[in-house]
Amino acid sequence: MNLSFIFGPGFKFTYSIFIMAENKFPLTGISSVALHAADSRNAEYSHLTPIYATSTFVFDTAQQGMERFAGKDKENIYSRWGNPTFKAAEKTIAALEAFNLKDEKGGPLQLKALLHASGQAAMTTMFMSNLQAGDALMSHFSLYGGTYELMHKVLHENGIRTIIVDMRDLDLAEETIKKNKIKLIHIETPANPTIQCVDIEAMTRIAKKHNIIITVDNTFATPCLQQPFKYGVDFVFHSTTKFLNGHGTAIGGVLIGKDIEFMQTKAWKWHALLGGNANPFDAYLLMQGMKTLEVRMDRHCNNAEKVAAFLSGHNGIAHVNYTGLHSHPDHATAKKQMKHFGPMMSFELKGGLEAGKKFINKLQMCVRAVSLGTVDTLLSHPASMTHYGVPREERIRFGITDGLIRMSVGMENADDILNDLEQAMQ
Ligand SMILES: *Cc1c(COP(=O)(O)O)cnc(C)c1O
Repeated sequence: MNLSFIFGPGFKFTYSIFIMAENKFPLTGISSVALHAADSRNAEYSHLTPIYATSTFVFDTAQQGMERFAGKDKENIYSRWGNPTFKAAEKTIAALEAFNLKDEKGGPLQLKALLHASGQAAMTTMFMSNLQAGDALMSHFSLYGGTYELMHKVLHENGIRTIIVDMRDLDLAEETIKKNKIKLIHIETPANPTIQCVDIEAMTRIAKKHNIIITVDNTFATPCLQQPFKYGVDFVFHSTTKFLNGHGTAIGGVLIGKDIEFMQTKAWKWHALLGGNANPFDAYLLMQGMKTLEVRMDRHCNNAEKVAAFLSGHNGIAHVNYTGLHSHPDHATAKKQMKHFGPMMSFELKGGLEAGKKFINKLQMCVRAVSLGTVDTLLSHPASMTHYGVPREERIRFGITDGLIRMSVGMENADDILNDLEQAMQ
């Protein structure tokens, strides 16, 4: 397209016109969406989305500044409020979560994403923009540590109560709703580190029956394996630090909503005022990562199947938590709502805490680290690492036993992963 022909010479390219480029045939695969949803054409004809490392944006005239502040001119003003590199990533994530889904009227589902500095920042916006002092939220007992602490420390001190129940028990969940005035339900599925799954469809039905907001942490599954908006949830959350980035190069988080008006007003306002904005370089790295999301997930998932089969047949292992195994209590739920069981698992070594530490120390190729979702295999030992500070009784109640090892299966050649695990168990 010859832009100077349409807009005249000296035209300053406006990004937003093209992020909603029309006249496109519908894309049939999620990789095509990941590669092309942002359509980052720009003034300098750069192929890749540029890193707009700028705090502020220029007005041609006072009039233009006024129109921008009035929202008539949709261009950027200040990077805490929005930036073209963030927008490219936001547009891509929203398109991935909406892929092939319909809205209530049968049209393509429209979603709005807000990119944040971290998963924690996105979660803070999600909770603070939907809840206020006096409200209560309900969540499942197996949760990411930061989420659990945000609820029990920050929200708690601000007058927001958290009620934790086992939401795999739907009757118990509904009973809890009837006894307490719940404003929001937050589910993480699959959940850290036990890989427990909550039935998104069933919980959404219950939430909607009682007029409750429902939010889903989709970090472990990614939109390639699971799309919570399919079941009518209100918000989806990701720590983009994990599989979406995929290479472990940046921290980030995203809040995605289907109420576009709410996302553009209250959620955007809280996001801007709490100050959890992303930065252009991390947004650029995220953009690069998302391009290969589907092929990475395929490889991660195939390797995970092999690792789970190997571990479950090994005599040094007491138990494997992997939803692809029929022995996992949530196998049926995972099968129902996920395209694949995913790259995450945990396993219990015979011999408890000492065996866990010994095993971790003997690894030669797989990496000893917390976090997950990187191209290489990461293993951690919650009892001596992430959950070291949690009283033993409490951690065991959450399923985090002494010898439990959490594994984010990477993209190495599967035999090398198996060989490393085998020698570490000797
Ligand atoms: C990592 C993680 C978070 C927190 O995200 P950060 O990017 O570390 O702030 C939240 N939920 C889940 C499931 C995670 O794995």
